[in-house]
Amino acid sequence: MTSTPRRIALRGHVVSCRLDPRLFSWDEAVIDIADGLVVVENGIIAAVGPYDSVRSSIDSATHVEHYPECLLAPGFVDSHVHYAQAPMVASHGTTLLDWLTKYTFPNEERFSDVSYARSVAKFFFDELLRNGTTSVLAFCTVFPQSTDAFFEEASRRNMRVIGGKVLMDRNAPSSLTDTVQSGYDDSKALIERWHGNGRLRYAITPRFAPTSSEGQLRSASSLWQEFPTCLVHSHVSENLEEIEWVRSLFPNRAGYLDVYDDAGLLGRGTVLAHGVHLTRDELDRIAATSTSLAHCPTSNTFLGSGLFSFNKVNAAREHIDVGLGTDIGAGTSFSLLTTMGEAYKVAALTASSMNAYELFYLATLGGARALGVSSFVGSLEVGKEADVVVLDPRSSPLLAYRSDRVTSTEEQLFALAMLGDDRSVAATYVAGERAYERRFDDD
Ligand SMILES: [Zn+2]
Repeated sequence: MTSTPRRIALRGHVVSCRLDPRLFSWDEAVIDIADGLVVVENGIIAAVGPYDSVRSSIDSATHVEHYPECLLAPGFVDSHVHYAQAPMVASHGTTLLDWLTKYTFPNEERFSDVSYARSVAKFFFDELLRNGTTSVLAFCTVFPQSTDAFFEEASRRNMRVIGGKVLMDRNAPSSLTDTVQSGYDDSKALIERWHGNGRLRYAITPRFAPTSSEGQLRSASSLWQEFPTCLVHSHVSENLEEIEWVRSLFPNRAGYLDVYDDAGLLGRGTVLAHGVHLTRDELDRIAATSTSLAHCPTSNTFLGSGLFSFNKVNAAREHIDVGLGTDIGAGTSFSLLTTMGEAYKVAALTASSMNAYELFYLATLGGARALGVSSFVGSLEVGKEADVVVLDPRSSPLLAYRSDRVTSTEEQLFALAMLGDDRSVAATYVAGERAYERRFDDD
Protein backbone atom coordinates (compact mmCIF):
# COMPACT_ATOMS: atom_id res chain seq x y z
CA MET A 1 0.00 0.00 0.00
CA THR A 2 1.41 3.40 -0.89
CA SER A 3 0.41 6.50 1.03
CA THR A 4 -0.28 9.83 -0.62
CA PRO A 5 2.51 12.32 0.01
CA ARG A 6 1.54 15.22 2.26
CA ARG A 7 1.97 18.32 0.15
CA ILE A 8 1.54 22.00 0.98
CA ALA A 9 2.81 25.19 -0.62
CA LEU A 10 3.77 28.59 0.79
CA ARG A 11 3.48 31.72 -1.34
CA GLY A 12 5.22 35.02 -0.57
CA HIS A 13 8.45 36.97 -1.10
CA VAL A 14 11.14 34.27 -0.91
CA VAL A 15 14.52 35.38 0.50
CA SER A 16 17.32 32.96 1.29
CA CYS A 17 21.10 32.69 1.03
CA ARG A 18 22.62 29.84 -0.94
CA LEU A 19 26.22 31.05 -0.51
CA ASP A 20 28.13 33.32 1.86
CA PRO A 21 27.56 36.96 0.80
CA ARG A 22 30.96 37.83 2.32
CA LEU A 23 32.58 35.71 -0.40
CA PHE A 24 30.22 35.89 -3.38
CA SER A 25 28.27 38.61 -5.18
CA TRP A 26 24.70 39.14 -4.02
CA ASP A 27 23.39 37.75 -7.33
CA GLU A 28 25.21 34.49 -6.69
CA ALA A 29 24.66 34.33 -2.93
CA VAL A 30 21.02 35.35 -2.54
CA ILE A 31 17.74 33.84 -3.73
CA ASP A 32 15.26 36.73 -4.02
CA ILE A 33 11.86 36.03 -5.59
CA ALA A 34 9.26 38.77 -5.10
CA ASP A 35 6.27 36.47 -5.68
CA GLY A 36 7.61 33.02 -4.92
CA LEU A 37 6.23 29.59 -4.18
CA VAL A 38 7.81 26.98 -1.90
CA VAL A 39 6.33 23.51 -2.45
CA VAL A 40 6.78 21.07 0.42
CA GLU A 41 6.32 17.32 0.19
CA ASN A 42 6.47 15.21 3.36
CA GLY A 43 8.39 17.98 5.12
CA ILE A 44 11.02 18.40 2.38
CA ILE A 45 11.21 21.29 -0.09
CA ALA A 46 10.20 19.85 -3.49
CA ALA A 47 10.24 23.05 -5.55
CA VAL A 48 11.08 26.75 -5.14
CA GLY A 49 10.65 29.45 -7.74
CA PRO A 50 8.48 32.23 -9.10
CA TYR A 51 4.79 31.52 -8.43
CA ASP A 52 3.90 31.77 -12.11
CA SER A 53 6.36 29.07 -13.14
CA VAL A 54 6.13 26.71 -10.13
CA ARG A 55 2.31 26.71 -9.70
CA SER A 56 1.96 24.19 -12.57
CA SER A 57 3.87 21.62 -10.47
CA ILE A 58 1.08 21.43 -7.88
CA ASP A 59 -2.41 20.09 -8.36
CA SER A 60 -5.58 21.90 -7.37
CA ALA A 61 -5.88 19.82 -4.19
CA THR A 62 -2.62 21.20 -2.77
CA HIS A 63 -3.23 23.74 -0.06
CA VAL A 64 -1.46 27.05 -0.76
CA GLU A 65 -0.84 29.31 2.25
CA HIS A 66 -0.51 32.81 0.83
CA TYR A 67 1.39 35.55 2.71
CA PRO A 68 1.14 38.43 0.23
CA GLU A 69 2.80 41.06 2.45
CA CYS A 70 5.44 38.83 4.00
CA LEU A 71 8.92 37.42 3.43
CA LEU A 72 9.41 33.64 3.43
CA ALA A 73 12.85 32.93 4.89
CA PRO A 74 14.69 29.90 6.29
CA GLY A 75 13.93 29.29 9.98
CA PHE A 76 16.53 31.04 12.12
CA VAL A 77 19.48 29.12 13.58
CA ASP A 78 20.61 30.07 17.10
CA SER A 79 24.22 28.90 17.28
CA HIS A 80 24.68 29.28 21.04
CA VAL A 81 22.03 29.33 23.76
CA HIS A 82 21.43 27.96 27.27
CA TYR A 83 17.87 26.64 27.49
CA ALA A 84 18.11 26.37 31.28
CA GLN A 85 18.91 30.06 31.61
CA ALA A 86 15.55 31.27 30.28
CA PRO A 87 14.31 31.85 33.87
CA MET A 88 17.24 34.15 34.73
CA VAL A 89 17.40 36.33 31.61
CA ALA A 90 17.69 40.07 32.41
CA SER A 91 19.19 39.54 35.87
CA HIS A 92 20.92 42.77 36.78
CA GLY A 93 24.41 43.14 35.42
CA THR A 94 27.75 42.03 36.68
CA THR A 95 30.66 40.59 34.74
CA LEU A 96 30.98 36.99 33.59
CA LEU A 97 32.51 35.27 36.61
CA ASP A 98 30.27 37.05 39.16
CA TRP A 99 27.30 36.35 36.92
CA LEU A 100 27.99 32.63 37.05
CA THR A 101 28.25 32.58 40.85
CA LYS A 102 25.42 34.96 41.58
CA TYR A 103 22.79 33.85 39.08
CA THR A 104 23.77 30.91 36.87
CA PHE A 105 24.74 28.29 39.41
CA PRO A 106 21.79 28.83 41.82
CA ASN A 107 19.46 28.78 38.81
CA GLU A 108 20.92 25.59 37.33
CA GLU A 109 20.70 23.74 40.68
CA ARG A 110 16.92 23.62 40.20
CA PHE A 111 17.31 21.37 37.15
CA SER A 112 17.92 18.27 39.25
CA ASP A 113 14.10 18.29 39.39
CA VAL A 114 13.01 16.85 36.05
CA SER A 115 9.50 18.29 36.24
CA TYR A 116 11.00 21.77 36.62
CA ALA A 117 13.36 21.07 33.70
CA ARG A 118 10.39 20.00 31.57
CA SER A 119 8.45 23.17 32.35
CA VAL A 120 11.42 25.35 31.36
CA ALA A 121 12.02 23.30 28.19
CA LYS A 122 8.40 23.81 27.16
CA PHE A 123 8.67 27.58 27.65
CA PHE A 124 12.01 27.65 25.83
CA PHE A 125 10.75 25.89 22.70
CA ASP A 126 7.54 27.96 22.64
CA GLU A 127 9.70 31.06 22.75
CA LEU A 128 11.99 29.82 19.96
CA LEU A 129 9.08 29.24 17.61
CA ARG A 130 7.48 32.58 18.51
CA ASN A 131 10.78 34.15 17.38
CA GLY A 132 11.06 32.12 14.19
CA THR A 133 13.98 30.02 15.44
CA THR A 134 13.83 26.42 14.26
CA SER A 135 17.35 25.14 15.07
CA VAL A 136 19.61 25.66 18.09
CA LEU A 137 22.86 24.49 19.59
CA ALA A 138 22.08 24.52 23.30
CA PHE A 139 23.68 23.98 26.66
CA CYS A 140 21.55 22.02 29.13
CA THR A 141 22.82 21.65 32.73
CA VAL A 142 25.08 19.16 34.49
CA PHE A 143 22.02 16.98 35.29
CA PRO A 144 21.39 14.36 32.59
CA GLN A 145 17.64 14.52 33.27
CA SER A 146 17.69 18.19 32.21
CA THR A 147 19.11 17.06 28.87
CA ASP A 148 16.40 14.39 28.53
CA ALA A 149 13.78 17.11 29.16
CA PHE A 150 15.34 19.24 26.40
CA PHE A 151 15.40 16.44 23.82
CA GLU A 152 11.92 15.14 24.75
CA GLU A 153 10.43 18.57 24.06
CA ALA A 154 12.40 19.02 20.80
CA SER A 155 11.39 15.55 19.68
CA ARG A 156 7.70 16.27 20.34
CA ARG A 157 8.04 19.27 18.01
CA ASN A 158 10.15 17.42 15.42
CA MET A 159 12.79 20.17 15.49
CA ARG A 160 16.36 19.93 14.20
CA VAL A 161 18.25 20.82 17.37
CA ILE A 162 21.52 19.96 19.04
CA GLY A 163 22.14 19.93 22.79
CA GLY A 164 24.23 18.37 25.50
CA LYS A 165 24.75 17.85 29.20
CA VAL A 166 27.22 20.27 30.78
CA LEU A 167 30.52 18.74 31.89
CA MET A 168 31.85 20.50 34.98
CA ASP A 169 34.04 18.77 37.55
CA ARG A 170 35.56 21.71 39.47
CA ASN A 171 35.27 25.38 40.42
CA ALA A 172 31.51 25.15 40.88
CA PRO A 173 29.23 24.22 43.81
CA SER A 174 29.46 20.51 44.70
CA SER A 175 25.75 20.12 43.89
CA LEU A 176 26.59 21.04 40.29
CA THR A 177 29.76 19.08 39.64
CA ASP A 178 30.17 15.70 38.01
CA THR A 179 33.38 13.65 37.86
CA VAL A 180 35.52 12.60 34.92
CA GLN A 181 33.87 9.16 35.00
CA SER A 182 30.26 10.19 35.70
CA GLY A 183 30.44 12.99 33.11
CA TYR A 184 31.69 10.50 30.53
CA ASP A 185 29.13 7.81 31.45
CA ASP A 186 26.15 10.18 31.54
CA SER A 187 27.14 11.84 28.25
CA LYS A 188 27.61 8.48 26.55
CA ALA A 189 24.19 7.25 27.70
CA LEU A 190 22.60 10.46 26.42
CA ILE A 191 24.39 10.13 23.05
CA GLU A 192 23.11 6.58 22.70
CA ARG A 193 19.59 7.72 23.56
CA TRP A 194 19.33 10.92 21.52
CA HIS A 195 22.08 11.38 18.90
CA GLY A 196 20.56 10.68 15.48
CA ASN A 197 17.14 10.09 17.03
CA GLY A 198 14.90 11.76 14.41
CA ARG A 199 16.27 15.25 13.76
CA LEU A 200 18.23 15.44 17.03
CA ARG A 201 21.99 15.55 17.51
CA TYR A 202 24.20 15.56 20.55
CA ALA A 203 26.97 18.00 21.51
CA ILE A 204 29.67 17.05 24.02
CA THR A 205 29.54 20.12 26.27
CA PRO A 206 32.37 21.06 28.65
CA ARG A 207 31.14 24.40 30.10
CA PHE A 208 34.52 26.15 29.72
CA ALA A 209 38.14 25.50 30.61
CA PRO A 210 37.94 26.82 34.22
CA THR A 211 35.25 24.31 35.28
CA SER A 212 36.76 21.20 33.69
CA SER A 213 39.96 19.52 34.82
CA GLU A 214 42.49 18.50 32.19
CA GLY A 215 41.32 14.92 32.79
CA GLN A 216 37.73 15.84 31.99
CA LEU A 217 38.71 17.69 28.81
CA ARG A 218 40.69 14.65 27.66
CA SER A 219 37.78 12.38 28.51
CA ALA A 220 35.46 14.62 26.44
CA SER A 221 37.90 14.25 23.55
CA SER A 222 37.92 10.44 23.89
CA LEU A 223 34.14 10.45 23.80
CA TRP A 224 34.23 12.56 20.63
CA GLN A 225 36.58 10.04 19.03
CA GLU A 226 34.10 7.29 19.89
CA PHE A 227 31.20 9.33 18.48
CA PRO A 228 32.79 11.56 15.80
CA THR A 229 29.46 12.73 14.34
CA CYS A 230 28.64 14.47 17.64
CA LEU A 231 29.49 18.14 18.05
CA VAL A 232 31.69 19.71 20.72
CA HIS A 233 30.28 22.89 22.27
CA SER A 234 32.02 25.22 24.71
CA HIS A 235 33.00 28.84 25.41
CA VAL A 236 36.31 30.60 24.72
CA SER A 237 37.93 34.00 25.39
CA GLU A 238 34.81 35.86 26.41
CA ASN A 239 36.19 38.10 29.15
CA LEU A 240 39.69 39.31 30.13
CA GLU A 241 39.40 38.19 33.77
CA GLU A 242 38.34 34.73 32.57
CA ILE A 243 41.36 34.53 30.25
CA GLU A 244 43.69 35.38 33.17
CA TRP A 245 42.03 32.66 35.26
CA VAL A 246 42.56 30.09 32.51
CA ARG A 247 46.22 31.15 32.32
CA SER A 248 46.64 30.49 36.07
CA LEU A 249 44.78 27.15 35.92
CA PHE A 250 46.72 25.88 32.88
CA PRO A 251 50.20 27.48 33.25
CA ASN A 252 51.75 25.05 30.76
CA ARG A 253 49.46 25.98 27.90
CA ALA A 254 50.19 28.77 25.43
CA GLY A 255 46.78 30.37 25.99
CA TYR A 256 43.06 29.73 26.35
CA LEU A 257 42.54 28.13 22.94
CA ASP A 258 45.59 25.92 23.43
CA VAL A 259 43.88 24.29 26.43
CA TYR A 260 41.22 22.88 24.09
CA ASP A 261 43.75 22.22 21.31
CA ASP A 262 46.01 20.23 23.63
CA ALA A 263 43.04 18.16 24.83
CA GLY A 264 42.10 17.29 21.22
CA LEU A 265 38.90 19.31 21.25
CA LEU A 266 39.38 21.51 18.17
CA GLY A 267 38.22 20.50 14.71
CA ARG A 268 35.26 20.41 12.36
CA GLY A 269 32.23 19.91 14.59
CA THR A 270 33.50 22.08 17.43
CA VAL A 271 31.59 25.31 18.08
CA LEU A 272 33.10 27.83 20.49
CA ALA A 273 30.99 30.71 21.74
CA HIS A 274 32.28 34.30 21.92
CA GLY A 275 35.97 34.39 20.95
CA VAL A 276 35.91 38.12 21.69
CA HIS A 277 39.57 38.32 22.70
CA LEU A 278 41.14 35.62 20.50
CA THR A 279 44.56 36.63 19.18
CA ARG A 280 45.56 36.59 15.54
CA ASP A 281 47.47 33.32 16.07
CA GLU A 282 44.50 31.76 17.84
CA LEU A 283 42.15 32.75 15.00
CA ASP A 284 44.58 31.20 12.51
CA ARG A 285 44.48 28.00 14.56
CA ILE A 286 40.66 28.09 14.66
CA ALA A 287 40.66 28.42 10.88
CA ALA A 288 43.29 25.70 10.34
CA THR A 289 41.30 23.21 12.43
CA SER A 290 37.91 24.14 10.83
CA THR A 291 36.56 25.00 14.26
CA SER A 292 33.47 27.27 14.22
CA LEU A 293 32.63 30.34 16.27
CA ALA A 294 29.31 31.60 17.63
CA HIS A 295 29.09 35.39 17.86
CA CYS A 296 26.76 36.51 20.68
CA PRO A 297 26.49 40.32 20.52
CA THR A 298 23.71 40.99 23.05
CA SER A 299 25.50 38.86 25.64
CA ASN A 300 28.89 40.45 25.05
CA THR A 301 27.55 43.97 25.48
CA PHE A 302 25.26 43.04 28.40
CA LEU A 303 28.11 41.53 30.43
CA GLY A 304 30.58 44.15 29.20
CA SER A 305 32.80 41.37 27.89
CA GLY A 306 34.06 43.18 24.79
CA LEU A 307 33.46 43.53 21.07
CA PHE A 308 33.73 40.61 18.65
CA SER A 309 35.65 41.73 15.56
CA PHE A 310 34.77 40.48 12.10
CA ASN A 311 37.79 42.35 10.80
CA LYS A 312 40.01 40.06 12.88
CA VAL A 313 38.03 36.95 11.92
CA ASN A 314 38.15 37.84 8.23
CA ALA A 315 41.91 38.40 8.48
CA ALA A 316 42.52 34.80 9.54
CA ARG A 317 44.59 32.77 7.10
CA GLU A 318 41.62 30.61 6.11
CA HIS A 319 37.86 30.98 6.23
CA ILE A 320 36.12 30.58 9.61
CA ASP A 321 32.44 29.57 9.84
CA VAL A 322 30.60 31.94 12.18
CA GLY A 323 27.05 31.61 13.44
CA LEU A 324 24.98 34.02 15.51
CA GLY A 325 23.97 33.11 19.07
CA THR A 326 21.48 34.69 21.45
CA ASP A 327 23.32 33.24 24.48
CA ILE A 328 20.14 33.43 26.58
CA GLY A 329 20.32 34.12 29.55
CA ALA A 330 23.34 36.51 29.41
CA GLY A 331 21.98 37.50 26.03
CA THR A 332 18.90 39.66 26.24
CA SER A 333 16.67 38.51 23.39
CA PHE A 334 15.44 35.27 21.85
CA SER A 335 15.01 37.16 18.57
CA LEU A 336 17.62 36.55 15.87
CA LEU A 337 16.33 39.74 14.19
CA THR A 338 17.25 41.73 17.30
CA THR A 339 20.54 39.84 17.49
CA MET A 340 21.30 40.71 13.84
CA GLY A 341 20.70 44.38 14.72
CA GLU A 342 23.09 44.17 17.67
CA ALA A 343 25.70 42.38 15.53
CA TYR A 344 25.52 45.31 13.13
CA LYS A 345 26.19 47.76 15.98
CA VAL A 346 29.09 45.73 17.38
CA ALA A 347 30.59 45.63 13.87
CA ALA A 348 30.15 49.40 13.62
CA LEU A 349 32.06 49.80 16.90
CA THR A 350 34.92 47.69 15.53
CA ALA A 351 35.42 49.70 12.35
CA SER A 352 33.45 47.28 10.23
CA SER A 353 30.17 47.57 8.37
CA MET A 354 27.91 44.60 7.73
CA ASN A 355 25.20 44.65 5.09
CA ALA A 356 21.79 43.07 5.60
CA TYR A 357 22.60 39.90 3.65
CA GLU A 358 25.73 39.27 5.72
CA LEU A 359 23.67 39.61 8.91
CA PHE A 360 20.87 37.44 7.52
CA TYR A 361 23.40 34.78 6.44
CA LEU A 362 24.81 34.55 9.98
CA ALA A 363 21.33 33.87 11.37
CA THR A 364 20.45 31.24 8.74
CA LEU A 365 22.85 29.38 6.42
CA GLY A 366 26.01 30.61 8.19
CA GLY A 367 24.72 29.26 11.49
CA ALA A 368 23.68 25.99 9.86
CA ARG A 369 27.21 25.62 8.41
CA ALA A 370 28.82 26.41 11.75
CA LEU A 371 26.68 23.66 13.31
CA GLY A 372 27.27 21.16 10.48
CA VAL A 373 23.58 20.92 9.55
CA SER A 374 23.56 22.95 6.33
CA SER A 375 22.75 19.93 4.17
CA PHE A 376 19.40 19.82 6.01
CA VAL A 377 18.48 23.41 6.93
CA GLY A 378 19.57 27.04 6.65
CA SER A 379 18.24 27.86 3.18
CA LEU A 380 15.11 27.42 1.08
CA GLU A 381 16.43 25.04 -1.58
CA VAL A 382 15.10 21.85 -3.11
CA GLY A 383 15.87 18.79 -0.96
CA LYS A 384 16.21 20.68 2.31
CA GLU A 385 13.88 20.32 5.26
CA ALA A 386 11.09 22.90 5.16
CA ASP A 387 11.85 24.95 8.26
CA VAL A 388 10.48 28.36 7.31
CA VAL A 389 9.87 31.68 9.06
CA VAL A 390 7.25 34.08 7.72
CA LEU A 391 8.41 37.65 8.42
CA ASP A 392 5.97 40.54 8.50
CA PRO A 393 7.61 43.88 7.60
CA ARG A 394 4.57 45.75 8.92
CA SER A 395 4.56 44.37 12.44
CA SER A 396 4.92 47.73 14.19
CA PRO A 397 3.96 51.28 13.15
CA LEU A 398 7.61 52.36 12.78
CA LEU A 399 8.65 49.25 10.84
CA ALA A 400 5.60 49.61 8.56
CA TYR A 401 6.39 53.29 8.01
CA ARG A 402 9.98 52.45 7.09
CA SER A 403 9.01 49.41 4.99
CA ASP A 404 6.72 51.59 2.85
CA ARG A 405 9.84 53.48 1.82
CA VAL A 406 12.40 50.75 1.14
CA THR A 407 13.54 50.33 -2.45
CA SER A 408 15.22 46.91 -2.35
CA THR A 409 15.10 43.55 -0.58
CA GLU A 410 18.42 44.36 1.10
CA GLU A 411 16.93 47.57 2.55
CA GLN A 412 13.86 45.64 3.69
CA LEU A 413 15.95 43.02 5.47
CA PHE A 414 18.08 45.72 7.07
CA ALA A 415 14.98 47.50 8.40
CA LEU A 416 13.75 44.17 9.82
CA ALA A 417 17.11 43.62 11.52
CA MET A 418 17.12 47.10 13.09
CA LEU A 419 13.42 47.44 13.96
CA GLY A 420 12.00 43.90 13.98
CA ASP A 421 11.59 41.46 16.86
CA ASP A 422 9.25 38.64 17.91
CA ARG A 423 6.24 40.64 16.68
CA SER A 424 7.65 40.42 13.15
CA VAL A 425 7.20 36.64 13.03
CA ALA A 426 3.80 35.93 11.47
CA ALA A 427 4.28 32.15 11.40
CA THR A 428 6.91 29.46 11.83
CA TYR A 429 6.93 26.13 9.98
CA VAL A 430 8.85 23.08 11.16
CA ALA A 431 9.40 20.39 8.51
CA GLY A 432 6.52 21.82 6.53
CA GLU A 433 4.05 21.91 9.42
CA ARG A 434 2.89 25.19 10.91
CA ALA A 435 4.23 25.18 14.46
CA TYR A 436 3.46 28.78 15.37
CA GLU A 437 1.06 31.43 14.13
CA ARG A 438 0.96 34.96 15.51
CA ARG A 439 -2.40 36.02 16.85
CA PHE A 440 -3.24 39.55 17.86
CA ASP A 441 -5.47 39.75 20.87
CA ASP A 442 -8.35 42.11 20.06
CA ASP A 443 -9.47 42.48 23.68
ZN1 LIG B 1 27.01 30.79 26.80
